[in-house]
Amino acid sequence: MAEIERESMEYDVVIVGGGPAGLSAAIRLKQLDADLDVVVLEKGSEVGAHILSGAVIDPAGLDALIPDWKEKGAPLSVPVREDNFYLLGEGGGIRLPNFVMPPLMSNHGNYIASLGNVCGWMAEQAEALGVEVFPGMSCSELVWGEDGEVKGVVAGEFGLDADGTPGDGYEPGMELHGKYVFLSEGVRGSLSKQVIEKYALDKDAEPQKYGLGMKEIWEIDPEKHREGTVTHTMGWPLNSNAGGGSFIYHAADNQVYLGFVVHLNYENPYLNPYMEFQRFKHHPMVADLLKGGKRIAYGARAISEGGWQSMPKAVAPGAALLGCAVGLVNVPRIKGSHNAVLSGKAAAEAAHAAIAAGRSGDELTDYNTELRAGPIGRDLRRVRNVKPIWSKRGLLASLGLGGFDMWTNQIGLSLLGTVKHGKSDAAATGKAAKFEPIDYPRPDGVLSFDRLTNVSFSMTNHEESQPAHLKLKDPTLPIAVNLPEFAEPATRYCPAGVYEVVEEEGKEPRFVINFQNCVHCKTCDIKDPSQNIVWTVPQGGDGPNYPGM
Ligand SMILES: Cc1cc2nc3c(=O)[nH]c(=O)nc-3n(C[C@H](O)[C@H](O)[C@H](O)COP(=O)(O)OP(=O)(O)OC[C@H]3O[C@@H](n4cnc5c(N)ncnc54)[C@H](O)[C@@H]3O)c2cc1C
Ligand code: SF4
Repeated sequence: MAEIERESMEYDVVIVGGGPAGLSAAIRLKQLDADLDVVVLEKGSEVGAHILSGAVIDPAGLDALIPDWKEKGAPLSVPVREDNFYLLGEGGGIRLPNFVMPPLMSNHGNYIASLGNVCGWMAEQAEALGVEVFPGMSCSELVWGEDGEVKGVVAGEFGLDADGTPGDGYEPGMELHGKYVFLSEGVRGSLSKQVIEKYALDKDAEPQKYGLGMKEIWEIDPEKHREGTVTHTMGWPLNSNAGGGSFIYHAADNQVYLGFVVHLNYENPYLNPYMEFQRFKHHPMVADLLKGGKRIAYGARAISEGGWQSMPKAVAPGAALLGCAVGLVNVPRIKGSHNAVLSGKAAAEAAHAAIAAGRSGDELTDYNTELRAGPIGRDLRRVRNVKPIWSKRGLLASLGLGGFDMWTNQIGLSLLGTVKHGKSDAAATGKAAKFEPIDYPRPDGVLSFDRLTNVSFSMTNHEESQPAHLKLKDPTLPIAVNLPEFAEPATRYCPAGVYEVVEEEGKEPRFVINFQNCVHCKTCDIKDPSQNIVWTVPQGGDGPNYPGM
């Protein structure tokens, strides 16, 4: 194909991704210097359309960025009133007393909110300061400078045909150049991955670890609704098959945010995270809460879990990684949005100082130092052993030993040093021959739903004439390797039912990718045991259209 010619535009800072990290960076840059040219590019049809989070939000980030966020109408209106932790068995559960929990686990002072709505509000704040915020713009390529530095991105390419050639009405998109490019794509960003690889930014880090988070929004019987109540559960139905657990947050307007996270380092390739979530809703405690209610939205997103020991270096020439592109989630607290905001603020401050000094295209080393030495590093360091202990020794050891380690870390001590994560989640997948298939109960259509029905509640849409944005490095591997060795787990780990193995009589099995259903969770890019699936951006505006996730 002939080289595509594109127009270019120059900015001081180009920001990829309109999540809490990217928007905070944009706001802080304009607070520091109203004359800076700043652009935010977001692949969702609007800001918030691709955001999926719990969320119980620690306002520490917003307090630092926009101290008068309450007066400015931030949609954080439901303070947490009650915190519950349960260890579930199949028919019941034990409530863990709050006093045994390390103080950092308390949600006092936090808010139950839709992070998607918070991002919508942040985008308004950014625009009011003069930031150009462009939703519906997928950043599909990096633009490299003469010395190999990141110089910009290509955004807004539309109208490719299925074979990748320009179709009718093709628009080549634009190159947006910046003195610095901020990659705030969230977990497993497609451009962030390329920068990490090119500059070996993770060479001194442990492998990044992930969970798959699935969430439904329910409208429940007002009699059962207790606004401000936060409940977390562990144990059943995952038991020893995988780490993970649930969250149940009573938000405003009789809504409940119901979520389930499965750690992606599970071994049994027959495990189906989506079906574990559906099964969980039949626990008597949950079924009773949901009875008489209705599910109004569904979605899924990976969550970074590697924490302190998995953070890559966050800067490369011309580029900085922000928020969950670095992996800034505090796993036991299941919170990353406060750190995403703080990282955006810190990156902006470093870029502002660099631009003021006449620099461009180099490494923002002050930002990298601040990530580890400042409040984000302190937040992550003290909980760094919880996840690896859980992975290696199971849930009960994690509650005991991990809890003890968090207590001692409160006073700056750890008897365990830093426990390593070991393998990547893809490498943790075991061979099918070692495991039995799991027989999941059929969804009843009342509390539990099949995947495709639920995906319709994510309002996902992709233009069908474009090339599949899920690329196989080697198209033969799913059938030649993954099927015989791992029973092709893509058919089970994808929470949107994108992957199928079609077996017809007298024909070779076929691997089918229904990319139109993809909710952009990134699990396939993470968990494929052959590391053969590459998630790339579809054209802008495609994907889920989450209503206040
Ligand atoms: C199930 C679940 C529950 C969670 N619960 C909580 C909680 O209760 N409290 C909490 O604080 N945190 C929680 N988190 C973590 C929190 O959501 C993240 O830490 C936070 O969203 C990270 O912010 P971010 O800006 O780095 O990335 P994101 O919020 O993921 O935003 C990234 C944005 O970039 C866009 N984007 C990505 N790639 C491109 C591209 N190439 N071109 C254009 N746009 C692009 C995406 O569409 C998205 O809008 C949870 C996460 C999950 C998955
Ligand atoms: S195809 Fe991949 S990114 Fe898309 S929903 Fe399935 S697992 Fe997630």
